[in-house]
Amino acid sequence: MKKLFLSIVFINIFFAQLHAHVHHGKLEVICGPMFAGKSEELMRRLNRAHIAHQKILVVKPMLDTRDAHNVIVTHNGATYEARAINSAQELLDLAGDYEVIAIDEVQFFADDIIPAVRTLMAQGKRVIIAGLDLDYRGEPFGPIASLLAMADTVTKLQAICTLCGSDAHRSQRIINGKPARYHDPIIMIGAEESYQARCKQCYIIES
Ligand code: ZN
Repeated sequence: MKKLFLSIVFINIFFAQLHAHVHHGKLEVICGPMFAGKSEELMRRLNRAHIAHQKILVVKPMLDTRDAHNVIVTHNGATYEARAINSAQELLDLAGDYEVIAIDEVQFFADDIIPAVRTLMAQGKRVIIAGLDLDYRGEPFGPIASLLAMADTVTKLQAICTLCGSDAHRSQRIINGKPARYHDPIIMIGAEESYQARCKQCYIIES
């Protein structure tokens, strides 16, 4: 009986330690519409990590081969090279002994970025991600909904509405001078496209 009791105690201690190791990492999400200052907020946090002598890796999705060496320069002159990557696996391969991992434009990654972020957290890393929470249709953008649910902290930023100056939560897509329709393709060849920050009242989506 005493033996059994002791084994249970040791098993509990073992799992308690395992538990402590697995949950050491942290996930911070910075989200909001376009022009809300998400990358600036990300850089502000990286500057602080830099001052604390932490090893920082910055990645973003490769959307275009011209992006390959994109240097982000912050207002105070610090520079970070955001490595453009093609897959979540590439992120795990790069992660190494970096203590802080920043992922910009996270909405453009496939869903396998979600287990990759979980793996990085299990390795004890601080993961900071920035991205659009909603697409131009006002729906959760790519993997962001799950990442928001997993986050330890969420910072939801607002932009300023281009039309009325109120706080803006939406990204208005404009195609050839008109508000985009719900079923418009994501990429429209030959169309003139732009985006504006809009409040919910000024935001228009045609069905
Ligand atoms: Zn407005």
